[in-house]
Amino acid sequence: MRIDLHAHSNISDGTEPPRELVRLAAAAELDIVAITDHDTVAGWAEAAQAAIDFGIRVVPGIELSCTRGAASVHMLGYQIDPTRPGVAEELAAIRLGRTDRLPAMLAALARHGVDLSTEQVMAAADGADSLGRPHVADALIAAGHVADRREAFDVWLAEGRPAHIARYAPDVVEGIRLITGAGGVAVIAHPWGRESRDTMTPEVLASLADAGLAGLEAHHDDHDAATEIALAALASELGLVATGGSDWHGSGKVGHGLGSRLTDPAAFEDLMSRLPTAG
Ligand code: AMP
Ligand code: FE
Ligand code: FE
Ligand code: ZN
Repeated sequence: MRIDLHAHSNISDGTEPPRELVRLAAAAELDIVAITDHDTVAGWAEAAQAAIDFGIRVVPGIELSCTRGAASVHMLGYQIDPTRPGVAEELAAIRLGRTDRLPAMLAALARHGVDLSTEQVMAAADGADSLGRPHVADALIAAGHVADRREAFDVWLAEGRPAHIARYAPDVVEGIRLITGAGGVAVIAHPWGRESRDTMTPEVLASLADAGLAGLEAHHDDHDAATEIALAALASELGLVATGGSDWHGSGKVGHGLGSRLTDPAAFEDLMSRLPTAG
């Protein structure tokens, strides 16, 4: 069993449509793939149909933007019921924060002599339901300002760079409540990757376990081998499931091929057994 629990389509900041995500997952000999677009479930229906057509299981998921103090934390939520009261409203509020910050980002770029218009970013986003910095990166690439998304982040968009603008996201504990309250299971994405490494201490993770967190995404390309081992050990110590996923974004992110990181089948079973509706 090959299980990849983290992948993005062009409904958020991936480059391929949900159907193509599922087709490529089947071609990569995955048995199960999760679609986890940022702050939207708009890709689920297409992915579910593709799952039937290509004969693999698709787990409906989301990567919820959260904060802990000033730090950004990503939370994977699986099998939520998006029709539960408050869920659609909260997701819409987060997506509004994503678009609302765009003028400030463009103004910051302009102050540094980089001319980029809203129209150029919207063209790069190409109808995505959830607008992200990668779309700004793609617009910068298309306009010839940078070579690739990595350079766009390193020079302009990453935390601490000139065009980084904070946006609304709920606190991590609220995020856990949202996901579990909607019948899903919550897993911290790449806990010790770039943006959340300093805040997601073992003590904080222990408190989140008490708040209903189900797992830690230990196996992720942002973690080196020693970090993966340490996170898997911590998960076990805290009674959490250690998961893995590629964080595939199509051609948008190198080194994150579908199936490049996997979730152990027993861990997947454990995770599904923690669904509020299970057992
Ligand atoms: P946002 O959702 O607007 O906060 O942008 C964060 C997204 O940008 C992440 O989910 C990644 O997909 C992407 N990202 C972050 N850092 C990089 C990087 N160095 N290179 C390429 N993509 C990145
Ligand atoms: Fe992303
Ligand atoms: Fe993420
Ligand atoms: Zn992701």
